[in-house]
Amino acid sequence: MYQGVSLYYINLPHYLPIGQDVGTRCIASSANIQLRKITSVMNSNISLNDTIGTTRLKKRRQMTLDQAHSHGKPGRADLHMHSTYSDGIATIEQILHHTQHNTNLSVIALTDHDEIEGSLRARDLWAKGKYRFDYIVGEEISTREGHMLALFIEKRIAPGLSIERSIDLVHEQGGLAIVAHPMNRIFRHSCQREVLDRIHTNQDVWLDGIETWNASFCGIYANRVAMSANREIYGWPELGNSDAHTLNSIGRGCTWFNGSTAQDVRNAIEAGQCAPGGRLWRVNDYLRLARHHINKHRPLRRVRVA
Ligand SMILES: [Zn+2]
Ligand SMILES: [Zn+2]
Repeated sequence: MYQGVSLYYINLPHYLPIGQDVGTRCIASSANIQLRKITSVMNSNISLNDTIGTTRLKKRRQMTLDQAHSHGKPGRADLHMHSTYSDGIATIEQILHHTQHNTNLSVIALTDHDEIEGSLRARDLWAKGKYRFDYIVGEEISTREGHMLALFIEKRIAPGLSIERSIDLVHEQGGLAIVAHPMNRIFRHSCQREVLDRIHTNQDVWLDGIETWNASFCGIYANRVAMSANREIYGWPELGNSDAHTLNSIGRGCTWFNGSTAQDVRNAIEAGQCAPGGRLWRVNDYLRLARHHINKHRPLRRVRVA
C-alpha cells in the first residue's frame, strides 16, 4: 500500500461489517468527514490495477519511479520548498529556472515560512513565462503545535494560532491543509502524535494530507514513524516533498499522482490517490545551506584603504 487511505477506502465493503479493522475505526472516529471522502473516492474511477498496486505496496515505505509509472502515476509534484522570502537561499527566479531546466517535476508549490508574498510573486513570474510545469501558491504556517502547509491559498495566514484554527483558515480560502514533517521528537516545529490524535478525533476539523516523506533532516527516521502511524491509525492522504532550502534539493522528495497539472494533484490528494516518493537531501545540500548561513552571520571585515 502506498498510502493508507486508498486501502481503507478500497476495502470498505469488507471492513464495515467487521467493525474492528483500522479502516472502520478510522471512519467511526470522524464519520462525517470520512464518509464524505469515501463517497468521492467510490465515485471516482479506481481501477483493478490500482487496487492490486495498492495492495502490493502495502508494506513499502514509499513509491519508486518504476512503481509510480507502472501504476499510472506519471505526475511528480514537489509542494514544499523555500525561497529568499524566508530562509531559503534561492530567489524565486532561480527556483523557476531550476525547476524548468534541471528537474522533471510536473507541479511545484513555493511555501515560505509564514509568508505568501514570494509565492504570489513567483506565480506572476510563472504566468508570464513559458514553463512546462504547473504552479501552486502556498505557505508553511508556524502553528502553535507545529508546521503545516497551506496549498491553493491566496491570502497569508498568520503564525501562532492553534493548528485547528489554522486548518479552518486554510479551508475558508478553499485551500488544502497538509501537516509538514510530523512526529519528529527532536524538531520543535514538528507536530507530535498527541496533536495528530486530537485532529483525528475532532469531528469538525480535518487534515487534507500528511507529509510522510520529507527529504530534509526533519524526515530522518520521523518519515518512517509518520508512515506507520498514518497507515495504522489516521489514514490521511500521503505526500512526499523536498522541503528544499537550496536549488539542488528541489525534487528530492515528491508526490506521485495521476496527471500533470495542479488540479490533477489536488484531485489526487482529495481522493487519497497520491503517493510519497523521493530521497533525502544530499550532504552537499546541507553544506551549501550551512555555508550560506555562516556567511550571512559573519561580521563584515574592515578593509583598510590606503
Ligand atoms: Zn517546516
Ligand atoms: Zn519547510
